[in-house]
This record gives sequence, structure tokens and C-alpha cells, in this order.
Amino acid sequence: MSQQIVSSQPLVEVKDLSVTFSKKRLFKPTRVVRAVNGVSFEIAQGETLGLVGESGSGKSTIGRALLKLVPMESGSVRFDNTELTTISRAEMRRMRRRMQMVFQDPYSSLDPSATVAASISEPFRVHEGLSAKQAWSRVQELLEVVGLRPSHANRYPYEFSGGQRQRVAIARALALTPHLIVCDEAVSALDVSTQNQVINLLEDLRDEFDLSYLFIAHDLAIVRHIAHRVAVMYLGHIVESGPAERTYQRPAHPYTQALLSAIPIPNPERSNRAGRILLRGDLPDPANPPSGCPFQTRCPYAMDVCREVMPAMTAVDGGGQVACHLQTAGPELNGRSLMDADVEVVR
Ligand code: SF4
Repeated sequence: MSQQIVSSQPLVEVKDLSVTFSKKRLFKPTRVVRAVNGVSFEIAQGETLGLVGESGSGKSTIGRALLKLVPMESGSVRFDNTELTTISRAEMRRMRRRMQMVFQDPYSSLDPSATVAASISEPFRVHEGLSAKQAWSRVQELLEVVGLRPSHANRYPYEFSGGQRQRVAIARALALTPHLIVCDEAVSALDVSTQNQVINLLEDLRDEFDLSYLFIAHDLAIVRHIAHRVAVMYLGHIVESGPAERTYQRPAHPYTQALLSAIPIPNPERSNRAGRILLRGDLPDPANPPSGCPFQTRCPYAMDVCREVMPAMTAVDGGGQVACHLQTAGPELNGRSLMDADVEVVR
């Protein structure tokens, strides 16, 4: 697991960010979904924040909101000390050169009808006006940086494996020497061995170029190796955040505990006593979220207060914060773990 980065001035500072989508429907009331609800976090230079949650939890919307690719309803997003919510479109276009995205599907950023050289060189041909010769030599360098051969430059995306295509997408993201890369499920579609290779590459690039990552994934196992800190999302809220080491060893939120129980844990003591915990019920409709704690409809600990009062973020021993009434409910409830609760365990 990566060591924690300590920085006095974060590269990214997000405070109380909310994003709401509304969809007009014929003969029905407009569907309004608050995809992100009062989310706050920071990312230091050279740091990786793993952002984890189920599909529909709002994590990808946060990634897009950082680059102002979706409209923010309220809150503040600062990047390298510049408030992004108030800058002009032209300033934001300039800022985006330093903030790039890598998606799950490389075809989102690679034109299938263009050669790899054309796709990778497009950002610096557009933004830096390099000559064809300069652009060609930069493409060759970038291909080598991501572990591909310069001779791959004239091939088309369909000629590559999934892992190689993701390397090409990473080379394109690096073209303008960014400071932040938002990796949105960037390795989720790859097999485990290719995932590990791409994650190792991303770690090497982070160390070499002092990059920061917002690493978005639906699975805690995927971010385990690369993340310095982890934030867990549920229904538009960050319900727990903290140093990766503490979060994996001592998850404080019942939802984090359930997610962790679903992955193999290389700790014989834990894995012997813990089976897979199946949470009952489905993710609630984000257009009609439950009152109080967003997790109360599935939480085996839910108390009366959970159905009425949204838990505030409180500090956790070992670092980080959790939004759960168990943290403040008193000694008789503190220290309980999901293993003690009435949940279905599959071994
Ligand atoms: Fe469960 Fe209540 Fe904690 Fe929410 S606040 S996670 S419902 S115990």
C-alpha cells in the first residue's frame, strides 16, 4: 500500500460540492437526482485518492465536476489555488491542460479511425502548435514512457489489446504534462493481471512526474495498491474517508466493512473469521433518497436516530472521518463491528 503524502497546500480542494441532475419526462413530474451531496475532500501533489462506491453513488460525477464537465449546483472546487467555479470558459480550457481524464473505455478518448500517433499528438498540436516533426518525436517518447514501442505509432486502436489501448489513452493524457489525472474506472474492464500492470505503470508515472490521481473505482480491491487515501461513497455522500492503511485494516463505516468483506483480504486472521457479508435490499432510488442516514435502509445497525438524523462526519482513531451515529452513540454501541450484527454471511 502506498505511503501517505503530507502536503501543506493541497493541489485539489473540494468543499461542500453538490451536483443535481434533472430530467423532464412526458406526463410525469421532472425527475430530480442529487448525484453529489455536500462532498468535501483534498488531494495533495503526488497523492492518489481512491474514490470508491457502487454504480450510481456519484463518484464519476465528482470526477467530471472537477473538470467542469457537468454543472455544479453549489460548493467550491479549487485547483492549484484557483477557484474553478468562477473562472471563465477560456481560463477553464487553459486549466484543463493540467487536468486530464482516463476513462474505462479508451474509445472515449481515442478516435478509432485515427492512428495512435494522431490521437496522442492531437492535444499538443492543438495547444502548443508543434511542427509535424516535433510532434512525431514527442509521440515516440510518450509511447516509450507508457511501455509501448515507438513502432506502434502508426497502428490503429483496434490493433491493440485492452491493456495496450489503455496505455495509449494514458500517453494521450500525459501529452500536455498534467498535474492531475482523473482515472474513471480506468482499469475496471481489464483482467486482473493486466489491471496490475496498468496500476504499476500509473504508480511509476506518478512518482516520475509527481502526478496526483483521483482514482475512481467500484471496488475497494482495485484501489488497494495505488491509493494513499480512500473515500467511500454511498448515494451521493462520502460516508468514510481516511488513510488507506487504516481504512483497509479498521473500516469504520458498516458500508465500508461490507464492501471489504466482499474481497479477499491477505490477512489470515481476518479472512478466517470473516465471510462475505451480503447486505439486504437494494440501493435506494437516488431521486427518492431515505431520510436520515443514506445507508439506513440496508444497515444492520440502523437505530431510530438513523432514520431521522443525517450523521455528521466525525474523526476516526487512526485518521480520517466517518459519517455514522455509531461513532457518537455511546460506549454500548461504540466498537461494534459488522461481524457482530444480524447480517447474512456467506462462507
Ligand atoms: Fe448504520 Fe445508523 Fe451508522 Fe447509518 S448512521 S451507517 S444507519 S448505524
